[in-house]
Amino acid sequence: MKTGTELLILVPRICPRVEFIFNWIFLPELLSTFRLTEDRDLFLRYSGPRCQYGGQPVKEGILFWPAVPLLFETGIRMQSPDLSSEKHLFKYGYQQTPELLSDPFADCFFLLSRYEEYLPFNADQYDRFPALSSVLYKKGLLQFPLADFLKQNILQKVRQRFPELIVQRSVFKATITIDIDQAFAYKSKSIIRTIGSLFKAGIAKSGKFHEEFQVITGKRQDPFDTYDQILKDQNYNAPVIFFLLCPHKRTRYDHQVNQESSLFRGLVRKLVSNAAVGIHPSYYSSTNPNRVKRELRSLNALTNQPVFRSRQHYLRMKFPGTYQGLLAAGIKEDYSMGFTEEPGFRAGSCRPFKWYDLQNEQTTDLKVFPISFLEISFKEHSQYDFETAWDKMVNLMNIVKEFSGHLVPVWHNTTIAGWGE
Ligand SMILES: [Zn+2]
Repeated sequence: MKTGTELLILVPRICPRVEFIFNWIFLPELLSTFRLTEDRDLFLRYSGPRCQYGGQPVKEGILFWPAVPLLFETGIRMQSPDLSSEKHLFKYGYQQTPELLSDPFADCFFLLSRYEEYLPFNADQYDRFPALSSVLYKKGLLQFPLADFLKQNILQKVRQRFPELIVQRSVFKATITIDIDQAFAYKSKSIIRTIGSLFKAGIAKSGKFHEEFQVITGKRQDPFDTYDQILKDQNYNAPVIFFLLCPHKRTRYDHQVNQESSLFRGLVRKLVSNAAVGIHPSYYSSTNPNRVKRELRSLNALTNQPVFRSRQHYLRMKFPGTYQGLLAAGIKEDYSMGFTEEPGFRAGSCRPFKWYDLQNEQTTDLKVFPISFLEISFKEHSQYDFETAWDKMVNLMNIVKEFSGHLVPVWHNTTIAGWGE
């Protein structure tokens, strides 16, 4: 609901980047309307609440933010973020506003658009942009939602100056998300694979031989079959989304069970009727949009409804191709914005936002839900003991709550079983 007085904002030029970031800063908290204008005279005549971003201040005492060029450019060029601590990302060239040491609008844009991931970087072993390369990691701020913090500061300043504007805090939300890379450990394997793995387990004389044999003969619960437990515990007051890997062929990284099996089909039916289901696009799909389309078609046929939520397997994504591919396949929500190896906020935000495509210079309809943490970041990638991991997790949850964000923890059906992926 929009109500009350209109805030008028003078900018040197209204362009897609400027529109994107001002919408992100002021929506949905500012319940009063706001309008961008390039018209200096109109701005000077306006008697309501007004502020200015960029250029030279048109009037003394006006609420003014100096601008670096980033929001008025197109395309990608090398940027030089300020990596010293306690400073915003961009070095500033103005002295007019002692309370602001940089350009918070450009900083937010740089983080949310994932600008740095369009620049050259040293990829990790899975050909991903690593946490270590991110400016937030380098500044020691990966576990702090810097963009949200800057947004909050701007809103506060505007509200202090213009108490007649109505600003409302958004509400904390949470969604539990679970990746299903391998639906069952033993059940639903083809007969050849079953014989092969029983043989291997037997040779290795591991306890798995006994366990697998008992599962196949129905004497024991499959250890990855944790779905009833997850669905039964649905008193979290938070919706649950299961992301299903549906690769068309097995690869080194894609180990899903036979998707034609009645067991897998039955599982999908059970999940669809009790929770939300999304696609978990396979390892190589991040650079192959046709794979995503094909995998989505298979999942749609199994769920009997159009699936529009997605999370990349291995969080493997390349900008802008992966998100462009998801959009082309009909995906509306992505839940991949995080790093596997480090908990924290890859885009500097713990709230859903629309993805800005830097290649086409436009705000898209893809809504990005940033990941708050993955259980495997604690379990496999860091050397934290249980207490330290727990403290870090609680700390991240509290941060998301403090910023009225949207908590998105990631689990795997396999780790709930206590196995590890
Ligand atoms: Zn996965």
